Amino acid sequence: MDVATAAVAAHNRGMGRVAIVGAGVAGLAAAYELGRNGASTTVFEAGSRLGGRISTVERGPIVFDDGAQFIRTETPVSEQLLLRDLPADALFDIGRDVRPFDYRGHVGPGDPAQNGQPKWGYRGGLRVLPHLLTKASTATVHLGWPVTRLELSGGRWKVHGTNSAVGEFEAVLVTLPPGVAVALLRRSDETAGAGKAFGQARHRAIVSVAFEPDQPPMAPEDAYALVNSDRKHAISWLAFESAKPGHVPAGREVLVAQMAEAWSAPRFGHADHAIATEAVSLCGALLGVQLVARWTHVTRWSEALPDSLAIDPTSNEGNGVFFAGDSLVGGRVHLAIESGLSAAGRIMRRLDAQS
Ligand SMILES: Cc1cc2nc3c(=O)[nH]c(=O)nc-3n(C[C@H](O)[C@H](O)[C@H](O)COP(=O)(O)OP(=O)(O)OC[C@H]3O[C@@H](n4cnc5c(N)ncnc54)[C@H](O)[C@@H]3O)c2cc1C
Repeated sequence: MDVATAAVAAHNRGMGRVAIVGAGVAGLAAAYELGRNGASTTVFEAGSRLGGRISTVERGPIVFDDGAQFIRTETPVSEQLLLRDLPADALFDIGRDVRPFDYRGHVGPGDPAQNGQPKWGYRGGLRVLPHLLTKASTATVHLGWPVTRLELSGGRWKVHGTNSAVGEFEAVLVTLPPGVAVALLRRSDETAGAGKAFGQARHRAIVSVAFEPDQPPMAPEDAYALVNSDRKHAISWLAFESAKPGHVPAGREVLVAQMAEAWSAPRFGHADHAIATEAVSLCGALLGVQLVARWTHVTRWSEALPDSLAIDPTSNEGNGVFFAGDSLVGGRVHLAIESGLSAAGRIMRRLDAQS
């Protein structure tokens, strides 16, 4: 049975009072919270894996995060979820500092307040978190199911995919970055107002380049990562993945570079090897060493991190369409999680009022 048919069958068995569009952390946190409150939930994810911009790549004995790098728990809600409600045995605090560098490549001391906060990773990579959320939820998750349109029909929502539609949802939660959200909402007549709320939001495009240097370079001042503080360097972020326990075997290193948008955007269509060759050389220049890569891995994030946020579209919730995700709250995993949990609370109130 293909996924679309399975989705229809699952729905016909009575699953899915709430449809969630997107299996990033915002959507999965909402599914987790709705499940805890007894609501049945169906998650539709366009891609072939969970996590969205949380992404972990496995390469033999190596794992590295090519999307989000670590998770903060700066708020009681995110701390409660990560450290107490979900299994925490695979969590670790990276501990080592993040240090700033400027356009000349000069590395300075880190911010003690920021560096004093935990920077959480998972031994198996950050992909562990979306799997933990899914396991703890009661949601039915359909991968490879891009939602193309939402349709209000007889007071319930139908979710249209490429080849079929599934209906009878009392609420829909959209958790997409702004470009894809606007495209979906414009195809869905009843949500045109919400489409406007996303109209002014913008995420920047960036390229991540991960590679294994044949000679592991030293991290300046034993830093975990370097971050460009004046946003004038071609590299925005350069991390030493060996700082994460269980990611890189002893004596080896994986560097993860996130390139600035000004550098990334004109190269988005270039071949991987051309992007990687240039990025590796820039990393070498920043670290003051000649780097030769054993292998490289290029990821293009067309909507990576917010430059401007969507106007809060809660005014559109009267018709049962809700929103969550980092386009509303800022580009951080813990903020996206909290927006998913908060949307789940609002959805529960609607379901309770209707029952
Ligand atoms: C390179 C990079 C580094 C980052 N570093 C950090 C970091 O160190 N720390 C931190 O806290 N944050 C970091 N972030 C930000 C963080 O990853 C995001 O803020 C957060 O993961 C966003 O989660 P989300 O659920 O809102 O969106 P997403 O993760 O984007 O989830 C949306 C999901 O919707 C799916 N989708 C898209 N269109 C459709 C459709 N039509 N139908 C169905 N599904 C669809 C997508 O495939 C995706 O899975 C980083 C982001 C990037 C890209």
